[in-house]
Amino acid sequence: MGREKSIYNALVDIVGEDFVSNEPEDLYLYSRDGGTTKPRGVDYVVVPKTVEEVQQIVILANREKVPITPMGGGLTLNGLVIPVHGGIVIDMKRMDRIIEVNESSRYVVLEAGVSQGALLSYLRKNHPDLQHSMPEAPSIATVVGNILIRGHGSLSQCGDNSNMLNGMEIVLPTGEICQVGSCSASPHWFGKGPLPDLAGLFIGWFGTTGIVTKASLRLYPRPEKRDMVLFVTQNPDLIPELVYKLTQTRIADNIGMMEQEKPEYMKGYQFTGVIISGDSEEEMDYKRKVLDKIPQTCGDGENKVTLLGEIPPSSKERFLEEPPFAAVAADFRKGGGFQYCAIMMPIEKVPEAWRRGIEIAHNNGMLFQCANQVMSAGHEVMFGYNYSFNRADEEDAERARKAMQETNKLGLELGGIPWKADLQAQKEIVEKMDPNTRELMKKVKKLLDPNGIMNPGNWED
Ligand SMILES: Cc1cc2nc3c(=O)[nH]c(=O)nc-3n(C[C@H](O)[C@H](O)[C@H](O)COP(=O)(O)OP(=O)(O)OC[C@H]3O[C@@H](n4cnc5c(N)ncnc54)[C@H](O)[C@@H]3O)c2cc1C
Repeated sequence: MGREKSIYNALVDIVGEDFVSNEPEDLYLYSRDGGTTKPRGVDYVVVPKTVEEVQQIVILANREKVPITPMGGGLTLNGLVIPVHGGIVIDMKRMDRIIEVNESSRYVVLEAGVSQGALLSYLRKNHPDLQHSMPEAPSIATVVGNILIRGHGSLSQCGDNSNMLNGMEIVLPTGEICQVGSCSASPHWFGKGPLPDLAGLFIGWFGTTGIVTKASLRLYPRPEKRDMVLFVTQNPDLIPELVYKLTQTRIADNIGMMEQEKPEYMKGYQFTGVIISGDSEEEMDYKRKVLDKIPQTCGDGENKVTLLGEIPPSSKERFLEEPPFAAVAADFRKGGGFQYCAIMMPIEKVPEAWRRGIEIAHNNGMLFQCANQVMSAGHEVMFGYNYSFNRADEEDAERARKAMQETNKLGLELGGIPWKADLQAQKEIVEKMDPNTRELMKKVKKLLDPNGIMNPGNWED
């Protein structure tokens, strides 16, 4: 029997015939994503149901020296779940159990295939007083995939979703099942505990150090009322001061900033949307009043921040529903292609990032559109540049690809770090990195994954 056939048969023995495929029409879907990454080959896709099945697949991959790429919703868009060297894609979506919600300690324990939408509706139905920090991503994105790339959501002022992680169960690249966080020494998944923080061995590694099978995520009180207050500026230089003043108030759940050149009347305006929440009208009114005063304290006569106030009732559902309309609006080019690249940066770099982002879009014949998130009370900003393109038009895709590469270079030049970096940007980050940090990453990788089977090609220099 050929090697290919024997790997296929071994996978069938592990998960059953219905959950493994090497058929071209199935592999087609796994060889590409919604972004500009060119398709790459996949040999098998397997969809396990249990941690033991994941373990058996990893043991098989070590024996056969075949690469494994773990995949959640596959919505990161930068080719991170498209294997670089072929092999097996492990699609985690069947591991979809919500195992426990602890109301008093406010956390959920779930399997790695649980989607954002599934968690949202489960909480709405069973624990309506609780919420998680819901990203604007399409709701089939997984909770774990988002945690692992330092994603952010509707409670971004409490931190990014990796900061809200309490612990994880992981199948290590050598097949051992291991836990990190309080759950490693207690039946309770309430926090990382006063332990060495081993979660960092898996966050930001793009599936190159293990396969997360369970995670515990913090939940937060869900107030009855939510609203958005809008500010507008016509000069990005005002943004750092505006954000500083807003975050000093400590009343926002979420702060987002955006600009887009279409429709025409939006061009040249930077919008800052502040989400506030509360349990009574009095609380909401108090928060609105605090925000009303912000423009008086920012800018001067000509350079001013204008309060647009609450968004009109007709738009409320659009902006306040979870996930909000951004996920739908992404495809404004109507070609199904969306390259969403972003740079994590300090707030003071935002004005330059804004201006030069406009130049990059225009130089590549594209419209400028950015959607930025203020994280953790202003400690950092995720500056997101959106390049919507027509997937059927390779020239259009190439423009978006080039714009993304230039954006990543700009980000590094400004002292930021590209978020969910594609292969090219990973290489550029690693080149810029302190050589001892680079060596440390190599040692960690070698120690955890001695056969180099986990998503190889990523984070390599
Ligand atoms: C329109 C749109 C809007 C978006 N808005 C947001 C937003 O507001 N906030 C935000 O944070 N993101 C956003 N995103 C980006 C992205 O979709 C999300 O971050 C999403 O949550 C990623 O999850 P995923 O399940 O798709 O991850 P995937 O793309 O499947 O995986 C991400 C990475 O983690 C690895 N991985 C996945 N599962 C595992 C596992 N179980 N074990 C080990 N490694 C694993 C993969 O190999 C990959 O490297 C948006 C995307 C789009 C298209």
